[in-house]
Amino acid sequence: MATAFETPAALPTLDNSEIARYSRHLILPEVGMEGQQKLKAAKVLCVGTGGLGAPLTYYLAAAGVGTIGLVDFDVVDESNLQRQIIHSTKDVGRPKIESAAEKLTALNPNVKIVKHETMLTSANALDIIKDYDIVADGTDNFPTRYLVNDACVLTGKPNAYGSIFRFEGQASVFATEEGPCYRCLYPEPPPPGLVPSCAEGGVLGILPGLVGVIQATEVIKLILGKGDPLIGRLLLVDSLSMNFRTLKLRKNPDCPVCGKNPTVTELIDYQQFCGIVPEAKVEIVNERPTQNGIPQISATELKQKLDAKEEVFVLDVREPFEYQIANFGGHLIPLGELGARMDELTREAEIVVHCKMGGRSQKACELLSANGFKHITNLSGGITAWSNDVDPSVPKY
Ligand code: ZN
Repeated sequence: MATAFETPAALPTLDNSEIARYSRHLILPEVGMEGQQKLKAAKVLCVGTGGLGAPLTYYLAAAGVGTIGLVDFDVVDESNLQRQIIHSTKDVGRPKIESAAEKLTALNPNVKIVKHETMLTSANALDIIKDYDIVADGTDNFPTRYLVNDACVLTGKPNAYGSIFRFEGQASVFATEEGPCYRCLYPEPPPPGLVPSCAEGGVLGILPGLVGVIQATEVIKLILGKGDPLIGRLLLVDSLSMNFRTLKLRKNPDCPVCGKNPTVTELIDYQQFCGIVPEAKVEIVNERPTQNGIPQISATELKQKLDAKEEVFVLDVREPFEYQIANFGGHLIPLGELGARMDELTREAEIVVHCKMGGRSQKACELLSANGFKHITNLSGGITAWSNDVDPSVPKY
């Protein structure tokens, strides 16, 4: 049986309306009046109000968790709505935290919502987490995931973890006294760029629904002190084969943060730990913005050049399936094939390279430049900027 956190000695009482609202809980022997009072007394911090955070916070609010903290600094984008069901079409452009808080309060006005509209960082994590009993990690990137893990270990708060990738998900409960932490399982982050994000790799919209609900279930069990939480177990969800497997996890005695002789005793620089280097600064060279020696061009400037019939060769280095979704007629050579297909390009020509957002095309420009191509320019902001600033009929994805 899990020891989740100290239940306050004096539990808050429920009024008649709360008794009516939670009646299906109250008649469960495993919850009952005391369990519902424990839920009311509990404070849970949900990091992220995106794919995982949407179902997670919705069900925690419905269940009557008394205080729910939200951490998010992002804004609702149209591409979020396929899975982040706490946000609606009318919320596009609004801060996610505002949109989420509104929905949660509408569902259950008894719940106190605490908004932390900030990015969780090494500077603020311990201070934010200290006021909560349990943390639920709904983040989508490795630096924040390691940060949440380490902050939970250092403050002794259980971490209801979930993560998703395309059709597969994982869930566990980390950082308890008796169980392992995320670093026991993954001591080192994957090399940057190896695991694509949802924006790069895609994700089945339903998957975070499945995994977020599992996280909510674990949080409720920890609060009630009932059942067998996923402590020391990693649940693997494969939505394509619809298989659920659990792997046994052991606490690693040599774990750098929760082991016998920890080397991580305070929060570190997680961007650096995950090998993420800040993007090269844009400087002005010959009156043109330049990054790593590669001149940058805006979508509007490119349009002017094309309209003026200047000899510009547009090279698109995205994948063929992206080209199918949206293109504006560039010559397609995916970045991974560029090294082998340079003979399709003229070394003296003026070439403008683009991708979705401008990152892959910058790499392509650097590769071409290193191979003797003279007039290489990167389209800043990629086809997304083209859609925003030149031709809105080109869909954004
Ligand atoms: Zn550990």
